[in-house]
Amino acid sequence: MAQKQQRLRAAMKRNFWWLKEAKPELERYAYRLQRLAAGAKQFPSGTPNVVLLSIDSLAARHLGCYGYARRTSPNLDRLAESGVLFEKVMAQTNWTKPALASLLTSLHCSVHKADFVTDTGDRSDPSARRQANILDQRFRTIAQDFKQAGYATIGLSDGGYAHSCFGFARGFDVYDDFAGGLKSCGYRLLRWILRQSGKPFFAFLHCWDVHYPYLDRAPYNRLFVQQRVPIVLDSPTRLAINSGAQKTRDVEIQFLKALYDGAIRYVDDQLNRLFEEFDRLGLKSNTIFAITADHGEAFMEHGAVEHTECLYDEVLHVPLILFGPGIEKGRRVRAQVRSIDITPTLLQLCGLVPNRELQGISLLPWILNQRVDDLLSGSETRRRGGIKAVCDGRHKLIYHEGERRTEIYDLLNDRIESQDVSQDKALRAAMEAKFQRWQYGNTQYERKYWATGEEQEKFFIIPEVEERLRALGYVE
Ligand SMILES: [Zn+2]
Repeated sequence: MAQKQQRLRAAMKRNFWWLKEAKPELERYAYRLQRLAAGAKQFPSGTPNVVLLSIDSLAARHLGCYGYARRTSPNLDRLAESGVLFEKVMAQTNWTKPALASLLTSLHCSVHKADFVTDTGDRSDPSARRQANILDQRFRTIAQDFKQAGYATIGLSDGGYAHSCFGFARGFDVYDDFAGGLKSCGYRLLRWILRQSGKPFFAFLHCWDVHYPYLDRAPYNRLFVQQRVPIVLDSPTRLAINSGAQKTRDVEIQFLKALYDGAIRYVDDQLNRLFEEFDRLGLKSNTIFAITADHGEAFMEHGAVEHTECLYDEVLHVPLILFGPGIEKGRRVRAQVRSIDITPTLLQLCGLVPNRELQGISLLPWILNQRVDDLLSGSETRRRGGIKAVCDGRHKLIYHEGERRTEIYDLLNDRIESQDVSQDKALRAAMEAKFQRWQYGNTQYERKYWATGEEQEKFFIIPEVEERLRALGYVE
């Protein structure tokens, strides 16, 4: 019986091999016909699709197109040349949940408050740490804007702090909390697209492939590793290093960095596969892609690993690459912009106007080279006793609320933030004025959304989310 089946399979393979070859072509034409039929009914021809791709912990400085010496991103570098690369994009915070909330709402963290007080990250009070702040219902997201405009919408993540329980699923027809890494997200996205009626779509992908404890899988773990050492950036190790209890050796940090770089190369390969599929389905010419990250990653540049400890540029400087219809090829924007500017930019590129006030602005004038000025960027975290930072593109002020301590860096002459120049009185006064202006703006927005003394809604973290956060090293 088994032999007969085997013979049948061999005969099928011999005689009907062309079916397999023809399948992608058939899919492509079927999809194009669907699009034509649906598009003719509802949308002007050429209404673009949008894919917003956020790669957790991807620091701009680790990418070839941002000047990194290692070949971590050959495919992304090529894609950057087919669109616009923003050289200096500042994230609004240093960890996933509030960063995604800022990205999707175009509001600062002290306005949307999807930061934490009694979150899993706060280990000082274990009894309260299973309560989390969520992105409150009063805040609209980019997904809701696209949905209202008639787009089909899908969100694909692998849970953790991107889980729908934190309020991120609003506006999405489908929000998959178990989508896996970029490879699986891409596959699920394509499968979903093929099932759509042909309406334009907005897709948001958040993948964790480069997040610690770092992919240690061949061949990517061999690409940049020169010497293997027995260290894993798990939760206890991370906490011990960042508290100063565990000293690190340079060879250990180099090993972790090499694994991280290998993980970036893995993501780069997956990105390429995804774009090849988009090309094959004839979607590439009608889809705007925005590739960015929620925050970067530290490797002891300022005495800490991972990203939640500080607001230095290793964790705030994120990539932003935009390409697709209507976007010029090969432009590099030098001006400083912010994560909160991504939502208004994508909406404007699709001819949509959000029906609410945003704190970010559309970057279209920078894309068209009509503006070249730096935007004042503000970032904040409630971790580590509260840290806030503003950067005007040249100078950066960091204020540690707990210690009432101010640092100022001249990023033009000191890119690695090593020389505190806060003793320069005139500079300090100028930067403090910018800091106050940014704080004042946030307070005004905060008042629009929150009544005085209003209690935030809390969410009790469900076991599946806690399990995922543990795997990512956030919960002991
Ligand atoms: Zn993150």
